[in-house]
Amino acid sequence: MKSGKKTVIFCDFDGTITLSDNIVAIMKEFKPEGYEAIMQRTVNQEISLREGVGAMFALLPSGKKEEIVDFVVRRAGIREGFREFLGYAKQEGIDFYVTSGGMDFFIDPLLAPFDIPSGHIFCNSADFSGDHIEILWPHPCQEPCRNGCGMCKTTVMRRFPEDRYERILIGDSLTDFEGAKIADLVYSRSILTDKCAELGVKHVPFQDFFDIMNDMKQKRQQGVR
Ligand code: MG
Ligand code: ZN
Repeated sequence: MKSGKKTVIFCDFDGTITLSDNIVAIMKEFKPEGYEAIMQRTVNQEISLREGVGAMFALLPSGKKEEIVDFVVRRAGIREGFREFLGYAKQEGIDFYVTSGGMDFFIDPLLAPFDIPSGHIFCNSADFSGDHIEILWPHPCQEPCRNGCGMCKTTVMRRFPEDRYERILIGDSLTDFEGAKIADLVYSRSILTDKCAELGVKHVPFQDFFDIMNDMKQKRQQGVR
């Protein structure tokens, strides 16, 4: 705890808690006709993440739900040290939130073995009642964000004002970058590391959750010195 502030962690899911991106994996496995062009336009930022992801899932029939969930749960690996890290955060009284642009239908089963209160998981949702999958967006961008994030990470973070909270962000990709800019401490891997280095945002690279835990322990020891 720094200067009486409460520490809170915002942790990405795809490619951070899991070893790789589950939305990309679903699309590559089920290959709904026309998804490549939409994915390309999303990556190129010609359309927002919300538009792109919504449009890609709308290509998949709702009847595939079980197959898709089975596929993700079977194939997504959890990064090493995650369970230990959650234990450490709990022991230190640090609040842990998952902030994900993914969907509850694969996040919930993958996180079921871990002790994370459901109110601590911010993600998108999906409606399988129609012919095709409809993505629902319960946490959209609020001012000043106008990026069309889908699940807006900075909007969630701003609910924890910087004068009262020490905000730690853990992530791996471009969608974590806006949050990284307003965080007090950033643990990054992959593209987020490159982006932070390129634009001068302070960050600590990590490979797994043991790295993060060790760095936090070290910082806390120094803090009480
Ligand atoms: Mg990610
Ligand atoms: Zn946003």
